Amino acid sequence: MNAAVSALRSQFPLLAAAPGLHYLDSAATAQIHGAALDAVIRHETTCRANVMRGTYALAEAADRAFDAARHSVARFLNAGSAEEIVFTAGATAALNLVAQAFGNTLKAGDRVLISVAEHHSNFVPWQMLRERTGIELALIPVGADGVLDLGRLPELMGSRCRLVAVTQCSNVTGAWSDVAAIVAAARQAGARVLLDGAQAVQHGPQDVRALGVDFYAFSGHKCFGPGGVGVLWGRAQVLAALPPFLGGGGMIGEVTFDNTTWAAPPQRFEAGTPPIAQAIGLAAALDWMMTLDWPQIHAREQRLGELLIEGLQRIPQLRLLGPATADSRAPIVSFDIEGLHPHDICQVLDGRNLALRGGHHCAQPLLAALGVEACTRASIALYNDETDIQALLDGLVEVQRTLT
Ligand code: PMP
Repeated sequence: MNAAVSALRSQFPLLAAAPGLHYLDSAATAQIHGAALDAVIRHETTCRANVMRGTYALAEAADRAFDAARHSVARFLNAGSAEEIVFTAGATAALNLVAQAFGNTLKAGDRVLISVAEHHSNFVPWQMLRERTGIELALIPVGADGVLDLGRLPELMGSRCRLVAVTQCSNVTGAWSDVAAIVAAARQAGARVLLDGAQAVQHGPQDVRALGVDFYAFSGHKCFGPGGVGVLWGRAQVLAALPPFLGGGGMIGEVTFDNTTWAAPPQRFEAGTPPIAQAIGLAAALDWMMTLDWPQIHAREQRLGELLIEGLQRIPQLRLLGPATADSRAPIVSFDIEGLHPHDICQVLDGRNLALRGGHHCAQPLLAALGVEACTRASIALYNDETDIQALLDGLVEVQRTLT
């Protein structure tokens, strides 16, 4: 095994305990880094108290740790301030928060533009909003390679587009969206931009200000942190103008029988007890990510993607979905083998200690556009190396031998 990868793998408790495992499902959930797990345990065993409630020493220590976590996330995203970071239960919760809170500022006939390539969690909330308010929902199409086709963007936005909500990177094809072009067109139309960063964050720190978007959503479990926590970043003045989504403790200014006033962001959007230990664990994961040599990791991830794509292209009856080369996609590679169901493929691979996902990947509109009902997906992260790719290619030889 590659020495750099071996040093990385040893920092992930599950991978360290399972040397023979070829984990190629990081797009679904990345493995948790030891520092994140330690931070959760340390918090729960030395610092556990509710936040923003108590005045005793333990509660103040919990407050400080939670606040520090918000600052770490702000650094990871290059946010304008920690007040722009809203902790949520995950990317899905963050996307629904925008669909509800921003959605409440929209009127019938206003338009939200999404894309065919969205994960269901950036698709269904907008359909639900359409049902509730009568907004128009329009779709950016994809080309045969699954890449967003931005050719008709101004026309698709029309005259009343209020928000463009798109994925930064497809969870099926790995294709990166041309965020700069989308932001430029949205600005022209006076629309806000929400970026679903769920698949981008495990490939390195992000710069929301350079991206030029207004909202950014992601989940902790996809960037080496714990589950049960996610983030919505919102530009300060955009969040300040939004009504709350959930009502409850922590999000108010003052409550009387007749009227309630709202706290300022981010508390306005964090009703109830937040996922405290999980946020602290996420911050530890992001702090660790910010120490890494990302150009080197990207080069390796891309090389592995190329190796996999080249190997897959040699397999008869196999159709590769998404861009044909590794340089225009994150290292997420999905494929279809004629006549074989992805669940059967994954079962044979599982027998060889290969963890891959088969199915619709919560992206049925995209799969329909690509002409498949289901596909098999290999997703590569920083702890994978050539042995994982070779194991998969060897496994697919067995798949063809046993299933055809
Ligand atoms: N968006 C994309 C692109 C995703 O890949 C996922 C997770 N598969 C989500 C959103 C939803 O993330 P979560 O299930 O963690 O809320």
